[in-house]
Amino acid sequence: MNHKKLSKFDTKIYSAIEKEKQRQEQGLEMIPSENFVSPAVLEALGSILTNKYSEGYPGKRYYGGCEFIDDAETLAIERAKKLFKAEHVNVQPLSGAPANVAVYFALLKPGDTVLGMDLSHGGHLTHGHPVTYMAKIFNFIRYKTTSAGKIDYKQIEILAKKHKPKIILVGYSAYSREINYKKIQIIADKVGAITMADIAHIAGLIAGGQMNNPVPIFDVVTTTTHKTLRGPRGGMIMCKKKWAKIIDKAVFPGFQGGPHENNIAAKAVAFKEALEPTFKTYAKQIMKNAKILEQEFKTRNYKICFNGTDNHLLLIDLNNKNLSGKEAQEALDKAGITVNKNMIPDDPRSPMDPSGIRLGTPALTSRGMREKEMKIIAGWIDQVIINRQNDKKLAEIKKQVVKMTKKFPLYK
Ligand SMILES: *Cc1c(COP(=O)(O)O)cnc(C)c1O
Repeated sequence: MNHKKLSKFDTKIYSAIEKEKQRQEQGLEMIPSENFVSPAVLEALGSILTNKYSEGYPGKRYYGGCEFIDDAETLAIERAKKLFKAEHVNVQPLSGAPANVAVYFALLKPGDTVLGMDLSHGGHLTHGHPVTYMAKIFNFIRYKTTSAGKIDYKQIEILAKKHKPKIILVGYSAYSREINYKKIQIIADKVGAITMADIAHIAGLIAGGQMNNPVPIFDVVTTTTHKTLRGPRGGMIMCKKKWAKIIDKAVFPGFQGGPHENNIAAKAVAFKEALEPTFKTYAKQIMKNAKILEQEFKTRNYKICFNGTDNHLLLIDLNNKNLSGKEAQEALDKAGITVNKNMIPDDPRSPMDPSGIRLGTPALTSRGMREKEMKIIAGWIDQVIINRQNDKKLAEIKKQVVKMTKKFPLYK
């Protein structure tokens, strides 16, 4: 990466970027929502497309001079359609949360009901957490997972019949198992609900053909482009033709202003990468790596929420290890391993100091790490948790972490 001008003009920002680059290079990034984009994606993001206003959609803009912007946005749309078998795609949402808000505004009136997953069972803040404005406008009802860790389809059907939701919402941030979209669609049909999936976390695994794809089945599917999909920070909405007009209107002019076309071009580049056969291998390896971590942790008597993983992430309940998620996160940070503290289903502790940690494999897999490294890393995580009060031991593990990362360079 060339930062010649920046390093001369703004030493403070340049220094922040260089330090962050070093942190990314020398640490083990295991936050499951994070990833490393390719240099080609970075180049599109840093391109002069950022200079252009282009309110509207390809062929129907409010500004002149949009012919090349139209080319880029149309490529992003066509590639996303191919990747997910979508009838209609809107690539303008600025991120995952605005994509969800735009869908709510498109399909709901104030006071309407949404049936979504309980947040401690894996749902996302934008699925109606009381701290969000959406929760003040719409009525969110929650379903949970069963004690075996599966989505409780029976409970969904009972709640759907009772509350007659306008939308049934699936798709999660901390849930690690597969989703049966057909079952949900059948329930929705019985009560006349619209089906919505938020595949923010697993979009790359779906694009890589490794997990069920809700796009051909559901009415509306939202996603981020920066998690397993390995694109720039951004959002996207896919829907059936029938919803295309009201979804597009809700994104612009309903909710957002001018689209970020540098970002949309970077999305197009990421989709091209995801259409390559090697992306399938990548998605497969993410899941193999997560499975190895699951086995390694189970052997060491860790309690895995939902009984294991079918995707890229693990939610670990630390109650039997006598420490909180926050303590584990802080100790792992000292060893150069980045995870996040997370609520477990019906967590008895507080969100700021919950019982669990959430970790995943997309970023490590992007670096080229495989089964062998996962086994070593699981051992280090266990050692950090056992020796959490021993700063000397944590520093020793950090040295080994740095040594391993040198074998898997980022942005050479
Ligand atoms: C990450 C995530 C979002 C929000 O995405 P942002 O880009 O952070 O706004 C929405 N839904 C789910 C399920 C997510 O995991």
